[in-house]
Amino acid sequence: MSVLKEALKAGWNFDNSYARLPDVFYSRISPDPVKAPSLVIFNDSLASYLGLDGQALRESPQVLAGNSLPQGAEPIAQAYGGHQFGYFTMLGDGRAVLLGEHLTPRGERYDIQLKGSGRTPYSRGGDGRAALGPMLREYIISEAMHGLGIPTTRSLAVVATGEDVYRDRLLPGAVLTRVAASHIRVGTFQYAAKWCSKADLKALADYTLQRHYPEESAMDNKYLRLHRQVIKRQAKLVAQWQLIGFIHGVMNTDNMALSGETIDYGPCAFMDTYHPDTVFSSINLGGRYAYGNQPDIAGWNLARFAETLLPLIDGDREKARELAWEEVNGFSGLFHRYWLEGMHRKLGLSNEEEGDERLIVTLFNLMAKYKADYTNTFLALTYSRFEKESFYNNKDVIDWHLAWKYRARRQSLPENEVAALMRRHNPAVIPRNHRVEAALEAALNGDLHVTHKLLAVLSRPYAHTPEQAPYADPGPQDCAYKTFCGT
Ligand code: AMP
Ligand code: MG
Repeated sequence: MSVLKEALKAGWNFDNSYARLPDVFYSRISPDPVKAPSLVIFNDSLASYLGLDGQALRESPQVLAGNSLPQGAEPIAQAYGGHQFGYFTMLGDGRAVLLGEHLTPRGERYDIQLKGSGRTPYSRGGDGRAALGPMLREYIISEAMHGLGIPTTRSLAVVATGEDVYRDRLLPGAVLTRVAASHIRVGTFQYAAKWCSKADLKALADYTLQRHYPEESAMDNKYLRLHRQVIKRQAKLVAQWQLIGFIHGVMNTDNMALSGETIDYGPCAFMDTYHPDTVFSSINLGGRYAYGNQPDIAGWNLARFAETLLPLIDGDREKARELAWEEVNGFSGLFHRYWLEGMHRKLGLSNEEEGDERLIVTLFNLMAKYKADYTNTFLALTYSRFEKESFYNNKDVIDWHLAWKYRARRQSLPENEVAALMRRHNPAVIPRNHRVEAALEAALNGDLHVTHKLLAVLSRPYAHTPEQAPYADPGPQDCAYKTFCGT
């Protein structure tokens, strides 16, 4: 059999349930073929997790570029709206095509999407394409997030298109294969509530329940329950971001997935020096999406989600509003709980005491005061390795450290288990901005070694191996680091 035929099969097992929703939710469209597809990077472990034949896919970049459709694909571009930086607008997949949903041998359902696959009816002014640098960046950061144990869309492959895309200059084009629990966003519901019928909105809500929260489907007031579960997953997700120092950078409502996965790796970055006002994105108007604002923005987005569900929650608008608002108001408490639990683990504390939050807040105030590196402050504490972190030489930090030691000893956990708990919750490495940039620069010059080494190190951030040590270095001062959407 020819290589292409093999790749068209490759173990694909599509069942395209989204394409069976009312057709207001998508446009049927094929990816635009590209000139000369060539594989840049391929995720063998993800392929085997999905039950796909990695070898067959590697050998035919045609499929991963969208030039040939795998067996069973029914390509569509999805419609959605969204609040971008606070303003509502019609969006939709303007440069992506959902090939369909692949069922793994274990029966799990994953969206297989090509990003950068050409113009769609939702493209507005854009060219529907993506550049190689940002697609590789998404690959690296999303896989790093996965390694950190944070729910995220994954990256199966990046293929260079052999075509240039014009941004502020000419750049090599690429297509990323994104794998996601789904691409249903808060913005999908906003689109349905604003422009579709109540029956369409209900179809979308029932579909989302079935796909992500099946246990709630048969319950009374299932739409309120859907709302509650989405709030819960987002509270957990954003707490994980905060605990690890991840700054999403573009938390528009179209970039909030109802599955609870992190989605859209445009201008995101990890914080080096701790400060709640940290932003990286070049388009972060007024610091709206700064590190310290992320929980509030998530709450704001979830209030927009609530608004879309009101007609389904109760026929009496006032009652629906009251019910939904109670859930939205629960978000910050839920977030705080997840965050506090996570902070306890980072500090090696297995029980909770009255003064713990003060201890934690004091630490953050000191970190901000002395411009401490977020990740390495916790790493040094984990290993009592203070000689390299000048932060711990300050008199008030020494006082804090004594208070922490005293507190840690007031629990039943033996010292070795305290350290083990801390190792499991304080990563040895994060994708440092200078490392990611170096990997991208080499990759754009045709050398993928640096990227592969970085990915290997990032795949097990809690392993604390000697090879990881050099990757903990924050590199040159990050204050000038700017990220872009890559659109
Ligand atoms: P994002 O910033 O990736 O969340 O994208 C916001 C919106 O812009 C989405 O509707 C995208 O599909 C669309 N978009 C981003 N880049 C392009 C592009 N190059 N061509 C067309 N549409 C795009
Ligand atoms: Mg987006």
